[in-house]
Amino acid sequence: MTTEPCADNDLVREVACRRCSRTASLRLGYGGRTGILRSDEAFRCLHCGLIRESDDTGFLQPEPRARMLAAFGTWTVRMGRAQSAFNAVKVLRSALDLELIAAYALLKHEAGIVFTGTKQECEWLKGLLEKAGESPAMSAMTLA
Ligand SMILES: [Zn+2]
Repeated sequence: MTTEPCADNDLVREVACRRCSRTASLRLGYGGRTGILRSDEAFRCLHCGLIRESDDTGFLQPEPRARMLAAFGTWTVRMGRAQSAFNAVKVLRSALDLELIAAYALLKHEAGIVFTGTKQECEWLKGLLEKAGESPAMSAMTLA
């Protein structure tokens, strides 16, 4: 059970407990502070004590990802001129699972936007690019 300081990035919603049918909470955490994008889900029923936890790596599935976007807005990661286009492309390719050409094309986006996604995904990608010596900037495209 993790109680990382990422509460501001968590989504909590009420669901019905499948054991006692009363109101329970389902918390979805998402983030990539360690360099690996991860998600974890924790179900907790205060009435009957049922607890279920699971975690996964990589991008969220479309449905929970859409809820993250709705809750925290859509964010972008921008880059000016890359310190090293080679290194930046390497990071983008491996993080976003892109072909070489597609990763180079991202660096040529006229507004400098290399990625659009959830707040947590942008924080994760920004961290990876910073580690590679780049100076990316993150901003909210739509507010939640
Ligand atoms: Zn219950």
